[in-house]
Amino acid sequence: MKSTIQHIAFNVEEIRKDFPILSRKVNGNPLVYFDNAATSQTPQVVIDAIVNYYSSINANIHRGVHSLSQEATDAYEQARQKIQTHFNAKHSHEIILTSGTTHGINLVAHGFSSLLQQGDEIIVSALEHHSNIVPWQMLCEQTGAILKVIPMNQEGELVISDYDNLLSEKTKLVFVNHISNALGTINPIKEIINKAHNVGAAVLIDGAQSCPHLKPDVQALDVDFYVASAHKMCGPTGVGVLYGKSSWLNKLPPYQGGGEMIAEVTFKKTTYADLPHKFEAGTPNICGVIAFGVAIDYINSIGFDNIAAYENELLNHATKNLLEIEGLKIYGTSRNKTSVISFNIEGIHPYDIGSIVDKLGIAVRTGHHCAQPIMDFYNIPGTVRASFSFYNTLEEIDVLVDAVKKAKLMLS
Ligand SMILES: *Cc1c(COP(=O)(O)O)cnc(C)c1O
Repeated sequence: MKSTIQHIAFNVEEIRKDFPILSRKVNGNPLVYFDNAATSQTPQVVIDAIVNYYSSINANIHRGVHSLSQEATDAYEQARQKIQTHFNAKHSHEIILTSGTTHGINLVAHGFSSLLQQGDEIIVSALEHHSNIVPWQMLCEQTGAILKVIPMNQEGELVISDYDNLLSEKTKLVFVNHISNALGTINPIKEIINKAHNVGAAVLIDGAQSCPHLKPDVQALDVDFYVASAHKMCGPTGVGVLYGKSSWLNKLPPYQGGGEMIAEVTFKKTTYADLPHKFEAGTPNICGVIAFGVAIDYINSIGFDNIAAYENELLNHATKNLLEIEGLKIYGTSRNKTSVISFNIEGIHPYDIGSIVDKLGIAVRTGHHCAQPIMDFYNIPGTVRASFSFYNTLEEIDVLVDAVKKAKLMLS
């Protein structure tokens, strides 16, 4: 079926003009940027917001009586509200501004170190990014809690019947990513959350990979914590969000001590500020948070329904044409996946393919994608990963397919 209907509302050539970097060349060829799962590109409106911040409102927030400081504070707090609306959080103080997904996960892990006891259990999934494995291992070492893993199958999906068996009244926390960065699998998080709640466990969802493709509704999900990074959704690096239900955030101790997070300080005792400031010690990434708000407006102006439909078209086109290459195998074949393709060609190291296609201007990722356990499961050193965004085109995918064919000829 031709998708002309979507294209009336969704004009990729117009959208591409919003991204200055997409018109540059790499190694003499037009850039084909297929590393969107590592970081997304930045539209001009977000670049302008950054320039505008430092050109006209740069000041520290929440402290000054002077006008500039108030303007910066207003812009920062408006961005928080925009993020709240986007994620559909009930309260703006449930939106903690962080330096990114990794920071958000560590903040929650640190908080739970005072709540867990020896023998308590934490469940993570086999599809996790390293940033979602290491903090829990550290937490288990500290507290004597035990880490359990939901296994995956050959398609790259979690085995939910095994999850059922892992759950018990000992389970205190469940951590799963919404979408796997290595394989693109969309996990059944609503089901995972409900089942965890049935045994009284809290759930943190890592949304770093889902937020560029869909709009999560934290209230409908009834999730306890949800984390994401701005730089994967057209925003700047070094900024992100932790959503937490206020009942949970009130229970967790502060992560860092410093300015902004206190109510009163004497040398005898310090009392902490209310949410969200309790978790925002020190001067935050003010400019980054404001630009994050602009990025959210930008993506919403494109529309998540348009994005999903178009990216699905890119995924199908790439899957079909790549699979025509003999010896090429795709890892992660769930029917429920986003626009990420991890593949290898029999007998060729992924790094060699990555290097050759780079010479042709194509940016793909090679390696374990911070998800070593998944590579171990398939018994491979890594994959070539092409991850698509709404500003990519079908023609760019054809360029990739030709380049992979060329690489195969050269290397075999
Ligand atoms: C990118 C990513 C992270 C880490 O995000 P940072 O911005 O580097 O903190 C965590 N989890 C997943 C699934 C990711 O894709």
